[in-house]
This record gives sequence, structure tokens and C-alpha cells, in this order.
Amino acid sequence: MGLFRKTATELIDMLGKKLCSPEEILSSLKKRIAETEPYTKAYITLPEGPIADGLPVAVKDNIAVRCQKMTCGSKMLADYISPYDATAVRKMAENGMTVYGKTNMDEFAMGSTCQNSYFQTTCNPWGTSFSPGGSSGGSAAAVACGSAIIALGSDTGGSVRQPAALCGCVGFKPSYGAVSRYGLTAFASSLEQIGIISRTVADSSMLMDIISGKDTHDATTCELPLYEIPAGLNGLRIGVLDTSFSRSVEADIAQAVSDLAKLLEKNGAVVSTISIPELKYSVNTYYIISSAEASSNLSRFDGVRYGHRAAEYSDIEEMYERTRSEGFGKEVKRRIMLGSFVLSEGYYDSYYMKAMSTRKLISRKLDECFANCDVIISPVYPVSRLGFSNSSLSRSLYDADMFTVPANLAGLPAISLPVSLSADGMPVGIQLMSARYTDHRLLRIAGYIEKMYGGFNRIAEVKCR
Ligand code: GLN
Repeated sequence: MGLFRKTATELIDMLGKKLCSPEEILSSLKKRIAETEPYTKAYITLPEGPIADGLPVAVKDNIAVRCQKMTCGSKMLADYISPYDATAVRKMAENGMTVYGKTNMDEFAMGSTCQNSYFQTTCNPWGTSFSPGGSSGGSAAAVACGSAIIALGSDTGGSVRQPAALCGCVGFKPSYGAVSRYGLTAFASSLEQIGIISRTVADSSMLMDIISGKDTHDATTCELPLYEIPAGLNGLRIGVLDTSFSRSVEADIAQAVSDLAKLLEKNGAVVSTISIPELKYSVNTYYIISSAEASSNLSRFDGVRYGHRAAEYSDIEEMYERTRSEGFGKEVKRRIMLGSFVLSEGYYDSYYMKAMSTRKLISRKLDECFANCDVIISPVYPVSRLGFSNSSLSRSLYDADMFTVPANLAGLPAISLPVSLSADGMPVGIQLMSARYTDHRLLRIAGYIEKMYGGFNRIAEVKCR
């Protein structure tokens, strides 16, 4: 059996017992990458002369790794080399892990298909004519087909959980502040977190223990408080999210959520329905706030300090203009314009401030729910097959983020768990969400649910269909 089929925790155990060597893991992985990359195109950069050292981890290309390229999927940073390690990357290195490969993504993490990458479009290994999701689509596709063992992604509005769901992986977004954002290229700073894509809950928990914690480089970080961990599913209070605030959910997915609710009940959980009609404002609120923050964060790409600079210009104004016109793709420009608009005088109150108070309202409603329930279950994404489209910029793509963005607006931990395959063989994921800072408890509960299903943990064989 190829070592690439093993999980991260299994490989760490084997390394500890000297049952395999880092060289053997690397060579198995390289072979798998050679087999799958022509079809999946999950990586933007693969190391040329890799050193076998501990467990290899794939990293989304908006996370800094010292002396390696970090493109953020953009022409703007096509030749940028990071001078430092992100805190998460430094912590992995301190724990015997090495970065192996930078994965493809939608430009500056804006998108849900991987089609907004300047470099290539990643394909879903479960069916290559479908999208792996995004924006961390490269990380999810790689973990799904075994061209990575485990990977880091980033989640601003669902970018870890949504591709994980579409690729049949576990995708974990920590509470806001649980993992340092130092070295993560900022898109919408108040919403995003580095997250983990893996094949099992145990792998996500293991890596979360390593990358989380207070960091002097990110003032929003904290140590996660310790909460009592339930011994099992018995007595657990589960809220099933009433999805009538949203547009229709694919039958296979709605079925998976109600099957899960029934199974949980059978296992002693107390299941009730949770209705939060205010969630219908989540998508609008998210796109106003995230675009506002993006327009400010991306102003640093001006051709002066780093990144792309236009070749010809007559004065500095024209240099900025040309640099930004040439360096950014369509979707990024759209968001910068939208963000500048909602922050401009005359519109600030009616859009940005309104979105900020709606965000507060949504957070409060969610907090109220967690007074009476431990976990809210829902779909991750309304469909299990996401096609590639000519215009990947449509409003309906934004709307499909309705189940993932609430956790970002409220800073909550959330996990996408693969539970089954749809009638046509595509993975189906469900989302579990819990109160802020209860990350460890959520992971433990997710582990019980994974076990109840017998564990998904499958490697996609890369189907061209
Ligand atoms: N699809 C969302 C967006 O386009 C989420 C992106 C993310 O989480 N980085 O903004």
C-alpha cells in the first residue's frame, strides 16, 4: 500500500516507531503527485530539490513560507518570494513537519471554484469536469486524491469547508483568534482564519493542537479555554438548522442532514430544530464587509514595495493605475470597487454600517442558540456537484455561501465532515458549528460522528468524467 494513503497521524506514528522514513513518505507522495497532477492541477509550486524531513504538509499559496514563492493565485505576486514563515508554518516546522508544495487557489482567496486563479484551474479528483470548490480548492483536491497527506487552507467565508465538502475531505475552520493570521495574506481580516483540510477528524485535531495558540504577531489571538468534553453522543443537544431562509438544497444533501439527525437521536442525542430567519441576510452582510476590508487590505499592492509593477508609465499616478489594472484579475477588481463604494461618503451608513449592525445581530442570534444547544448541524454547500462556468462571477455563486458565512461573521468554529457519496458518486459533506472557542469540543464531537459513520477517509482515484 502506498504511504500516501495513510493519514497524517498514522504516518507520524510510523515515523516515531521507525516503521517508515521521511524519504519513503516523500517518494510515495512524489509518485502520487506525478500520477494525479496532470488531471487535478492542485499545485502552483512544487519544490525542486525537496528535503525529506518529517511529515510533508501542503500549504495554500496565500500562506507565507520562508524562501518560497507565495503567489496568492495572482499575477500581482507571480514572482514574490516570502522572506518569512507564517506562525502556523513555523509551528509545524517545530513539530517535525515540512511544507511540501503550495496549492492553487482563487486569486487572493476570492471565489468558490478555483477558476479565479491566474495560473490554472484545479479539477475535482472525484470527477475532473467538476470544480473542487474554492478558494482552497488546490488543498482540498490534493488531500482528496492523495497528492497531499494533509493541508492548510484559509477560510474567510467558507474557503476551507466548502472545497472540503466538494472533495470528500474534513475541513476545519477554527474560532476567530484561535490560530495566528501572521503570514496569511489578508483578504478580510475580521473574518478569516487559517484552517485545516485532512482525511480524518483525528488529523485535523492533531494539526490544530500544533498551529493554534496565542501569538505576539497577531493581537487577535488567544489560548483556547478548556471546556468539558462530552464522553459521547448521549445527551448531546443538537440543533438542526431550519434551511427555509435559503434557496433550495440538493435532495442528496438535505437527506444527508436529516439522516444524520436521525442517527444522532438513535445514539442518545437530543435533537431539535433551530430557526434563525436572520441568516437570510448573511450573504449580503458578508460580501459588503469582506469587500470593504479587501479594498483596504489590497491597497498595499501598488507596484512600489513588492509584486508586479507596470513596465511603462509617465508619472506615479499612472504607475499605480497600470500596475493594478494589469496585476489584478476581474473578480478581485470587482470586490475592490464594491468595497470602495460601500466605504465611500454617502454610502458608508447605508451599506457598511448597516452590514456591521446586521453582523452583530446574526452573531447574537447564534450565541443565543448555543445557550440551548451544543452543535448546530446544516449543509455545508447547497450542491454536491459544482460545474465550471464561463462566468464564474455570478450572484448565485455568492448566494451558495449561505451556510458557511455565518460562522465567519460570528467568529465560530465550524467543520465540514464527509458523510456519504451522492447518487452519482460525488462526496456529500455536512457542517457542524458550535460556540466560539469550543473548538476542541467540536472536534471531539465531529470525531464521534465520524466514527458513527464508520469513517469516510477515502482517496479519490481521479475520475475523468
Ligand atoms: N466564496 C467566498 C468568497 O468568495 C469565500 C472565500 C473565502 O473563504 N476565502 O469570498
